[in-house]
Amino acid sequence: MSAVVAEQASIPGTTQGSGLREGAFGNARALSCRECGHQVDLGPHYACPECFGPLEIAYDFPAVTREEIEAGPRNIWRYKALLPVPADIEESPNMEPGFTRLLKANNLGRQLGIDNLWVKDDSTNPTNSFKDRVVACALSAAREFGSKVFACPSTGNLANAVAAAGARAGIKTVVFIPSNLEQPKQVNSAVYTDSLVAVDGNYDDVNRLASEIAGEEDGWAFVNVNVRPYYAEGSKTLGYEIAEQLGWRLPDQIVIPVASGSQLTKVHKAFQELIRLGLVADKPYKVYGAQATGCSPVSVAYKGGVEAIRPVKPDTIAKSLAIGNPADGIYVLDICRETGGAVEDITDDEVREAIVLLARTEGIFTETAGGTTVGVLKKLVETGQLDPTLDTVVINTGHGLKTLDAVSGSVGPAATIDPSYAAFAATGLA
Ligand SMILES: *Cc1c(COP(=O)(O)O)cnc(C)c1O
Ligand SMILES: [Zn+2]
Repeated sequence: MSAVVAEQASIPGTTQGSGLREGAFGNARALSCRECGHQVDLGPHYACPECFGPLEIAYDFPAVTREEIEAGPRNIWRYKALLPVPADIEESPNMEPGFTRLLKANNLGRQLGIDNLWVKDDSTNPTNSFKDRVVACALSAAREFGSKVFACPSTGNLANAVAAAGARAGIKTVVFIPSNLEQPKQVNSAVYTDSLVAVDGNYDDVNRLASEIAGEEDGWAFVNVNVRPYYAEGSKTLGYEIAEQLGWRLPDQIVIPVASGSQLTKVHKAFQELIRLGLVADKPYKVYGAQATGCSPVSVAYKGGVEAIRPVKPDTIAKSLAIGNPADGIYVLDICRETGGAVEDITDDEVREAIVLLARTEGIFTETAGGTTVGVLKKLVETGQLDPTLDTVVINTGHGLKTLDAVSGSVGPAATIDPSYAAFAATGLA
């Protein structure tokens, strides 16, 4: 039984265990089951052979100093000692994502009544979302496994990041999206690959199809399916960067969008690792999750005080967060409850308003996921769930140019006039 499960949980046709080159995964030591703690050798595995729980990377970290990290490149590879990548990772063509700006958001803070607020702006990554981070780690794993095809099921941004990274690395890509996806996100994938596949169904249907293809085809690395343990580690770099950019300290509170829940769990993991490595002082911090009401299975479970997540059929403009059956949802619940945070959700109208609010206070144009996160931050303050006197970070994970339609009906010219001073004066804008 367990042998069959172990086989299903590996990438067929790839280099197995002993065939891996020395140091292929840096300081990573093993794959460890998040549910039962069972450990397996590093390899193209993603599910526990004992209980089918998700596998995570376990490390033997060396002593790492702030100075060593600060001397590194201005991208995620400055943290390569803490990631499952080889020491020579920078020599392989990749997108070099990360080290995005952490902006002190005084105008937005004043509007929301928060004393000290920062926006971690991941919209400036190479393909304009945080997904470039996770894909860079997945690409490294796919290379080490000798995968022939780099693939993913995606709510949009992941397909953009996989298609671009595969092009740069010279690996064939095939990316799968729901066919009703925003047109800019479709173009942002198709421009990099001739193998964009639009599936008539929602993300959860696309995800199921990807698992089926992964079982049928040899040597396909689906970044968020069969390479997921390696992929997910990339999100830790968001946590490392926030701490480093705050002057090597943790924030008191952080608000993070939740789709599968992977990013939120890994930012928390990053904070814990920094404490364990002595790179930041140990202190309490609260983690908050943000969802859109039209796809809020984790928020509903949080508010209901239950352990289990009931899957939903998504119906929201926040398509990048539209995962009705989130793989890491239960871990998000655990973290938000344990740290004293919360999970909250807002309506699509509130998402639109928050997009415009962030743009007009800080000059940052976010996509619907960022609108969801900023709007949830606002609601958390208004409902007394978040302390406005504590140092607060909100993550903007994507760029507004990819979801123009969300706000094209709410913003536009204040006036359309003849080219004369009289006409302009009549608008009252002078
Ligand atoms: C994928 C995505 C997320 C959330 O990712 P998970 O790790 O699956 O929770 C958030 N924001 C944007 C813009 C995304 O594309
Ligand atoms: Zn297990």
